[in-house]
Amino acid sequence: MVSRVIPVSPFDLVIFGGTGDLAQRKILPGLFRRFVAGQIPTESRIIGAARADMDDAGYRDLIRAAIEEHAGKHSADKDAVEDFLRHLSYVPVDAMGEGGWKELQELLVDDEERVRAFYFSVGPNLFGPLAEQLRSHGLAQRESRIVVEKPFGHDLETARALNEELAQHFYEDQIYRIDHYLGKETVQNLMAVRFGNMLFEPLWNAQYIDHIQITVAETVGVGGRGSYYDNSGAMRDMVQNHLMQLLCLIAMEPPARFEADAVRDEKLKVIRALDPVDPDQIVRGQYTSDGTCASYREDAENPASKTESYIALKCFISNWRWANTPFYLRTGKRLSGRASEIAIVFKETPHSIFGIDSGRHRNVLSIRLQPNEGMTLGVTIKEPGPGGMRLVDVPLDMTFADALGEQAEDVTDAYERLIMDVIRGNQTLFMRGDEVEAAWAWTDPLIEGWERRGDNPKPYDAGSAGPDDAAFLINRDGRRWRSIKG
Ligand code: NAP
Repeated sequence: MVSRVIPVSPFDLVIFGGTGDLAQRKILPGLFRRFVAGQIPTESRIIGAARADMDDAGYRDLIRAAIEEHAGKHSADKDAVEDFLRHLSYVPVDAMGEGGWKELQELLVDDEERVRAFYFSVGPNLFGPLAEQLRSHGLAQRESRIVVEKPFGHDLETARALNEELAQHFYEDQIYRIDHYLGKETVQNLMAVRFGNMLFEPLWNAQYIDHIQITVAETVGVGGRGSYYDNSGAMRDMVQNHLMQLLCLIAMEPPARFEADAVRDEKLKVIRALDPVDPDQIVRGQYTSDGTCASYREDAENPASKTESYIALKCFISNWRWANTPFYLRTGKRLSGRASEIAIVFKETPHSIFGIDSGRHRNVLSIRLQPNEGMTLGVTIKEPGPGGMRLVDVPLDMTFADALGEQAEDVTDAYERLIMDVIRGNQTLFMRGDEVEAAWAWTDPLIEGWERRGDNPKPYDAGSAGPDDAAFLINRDGRRWRSIKG
């Protein structure tokens, strides 16, 4: 199988926050891999911008080290690294001040037709000011795009204000709100499986699906960004964006075409059809120390914190396709494994012709985002050998590494795919302003509810599967969480 690389025209990419953690771990190593794949035309420029005083050589040294650490096997090719670094330059710019804008302007190619992308890899308080600076210094033209990192707002009001602020300077078709979960190979494969096969879509509804589980489990705590996280929590940090986006892709109606607005219109309809969630269908948790790590409250440096580091909830989508089908969502820090999975659990066959002793299984389509991106479909077959008809559940494994061989080793990282989509002007995998607002409109009342009641999150041991009440949330419906393996 030959992988196809779609060429792009030469572009200018400015990374505000080009010295930060995200730029060093994800954005620039990702761009380097695209360079190795032949996707960065020779005349393209990549410009790092931040306040630190540095010249081009200093910036290239910084990024050389970042590539060696984070770009994987390709970084062993020293010539390729040096060739890539020649595309890089650096300008000291203060998003809040006047310094550096003229120098930046001079670096950009003076061509109305040329794609200019400005990646806002800075704190969210700078998104609005940066948009304004670009416009007032005449750097934004019709072929310019801005890429906005998360978090997009803290609630509906702030998200709406940010949308309005950006809209003063850029059209919606120039704004790329990133949710890197949408850039994951498996997430797109979910759409390929759903809409590219006859097998699944006819069964993809309340009649055949018992329930759906979406899990994003992490083993790390919040140490390092505790004060930011304590003002956010799992609902704002993970559910409102990442889990909600995954839910939309599972639940949406087939769009007429795989195009930005067709897909985003369908996702928006899903969010708007979500029912409010009763408080007794939400379990919030906070990790305690297991003796080897700090507790959440220690990490957050807030001994009285009521912020959740874990959340599990059950929700319903009120439409014809999904009536009465529960969606169980959970995400948390310091759990027993690092695993992100969507599990579509089908109903049992209406009648077993083999008798109750033969064993009955539900088909489960498991879509793993990490680790080992891939998909597995559990199917029931006869256990080999004599002795009657005993049934056994076996996985049909669609793990990329097995199915695609060497090509799978090069599964593109989410960030590099999304950046190339920005350059191509493809917004399909980016959130539209109304989608983000609708997601906040659903989460805000839930958050306001527990804040008004003063609910305390349930403690859970670091390294466990989360609070006991989260197990009860699903067990009382006669179902079980899938195990968190990582
Ligand atoms: P970071 O490590 O703190 O880096 C922030 C960057 O912004 C630095 O390059 C900093 O350099 C620059 N900066 C700060 N103030 C500035 C100003 N006034 N003008 C120009 N540049 C300025 O943050 P990060 O972790 O890379 O995160 C960046 C953004 O991505 C945030 O919105 C974050 O929420 C989001 N994000 C990050 C991750 C991640 O894994 N890190 C994941 C998802 C989303 P100077 O101080 O030299 O100016």
